[in-house]
Amino acid sequence: MLNIVLFGPPGAGKGTQSEYIIEKYGFIHLSTGDLLRGEIAEGTALGIQAKQNMDKGELVPDSVVIGMIGNKVKANPEAKGFIFDGFPRTVAQAEALDVLLTENNTAISGMISLEVKEEELVTRLLKRGETSGRADDKDESIIRNRIDVYNNTTTPVADFYKGQDKLNTIEGVGSIDEIFQSITTVIDAL
Ligand code: AMP
Repeated sequence: MLNIVLFGPPGAGKGTQSEYIIEKYGFIHLSTGDLLRGEIAEGTALGIQAKQNMDKGELVPDSVVIGMIGNKVKANPEAKGFIFDGFPRTVAQAEALDVLLTENNTAISGMISLEVKEEELVTRLLKRGETSGRADDKDESIIRNRIDVYNNTTTPVADFYKGQDKLNTIEGVGSIDEIFQSITTVIDAL
């Protein structure tokens, strides 16, 4: 099993690149943002609770996302691999993911971090907000809050994987194909 953490700030292109990766490699895509939006669409208690954090650009509690990811990993023992997109976002989530994968006799193979400058992220997210229907893409102050949360709480996750010698950094600016080529070079070497 090849398990990859696709990392980067909101608007870095993780969702777009995940689609290309699953198409080429047949991995299972696990996006906690997508899973949470699915819970909201179904009107579950978890979704109603999570929406309050998400609409403000805050993180939902670690226990919620760790539980969701645990269920998905356990439900797919035959997977070729997983792409973790938007997870882990805290060091506590990264530690829990290591434990979870060990329990399932596997591990993270590598992290791929997409680097994009802040002003480019804001421009991209405001543009996405014109069509995404996402409340958290519409308002510049919420977008900036999401980027602040990333800078303050999520960037230590990259250090966590650097400490395990698993960090690969990629320039997230250029055409989608160029960025995907860089990603495949990393994946093929894992
Ligand atoms: P995303 O689709 O990855 O941009 O996530 C949208 C929102 O869902 C985030 O701003 C958070 O409120 C929430 N979320 C997604 N993934 C996580 C996570 N791993 N930990 C905490 N909150 C998350």
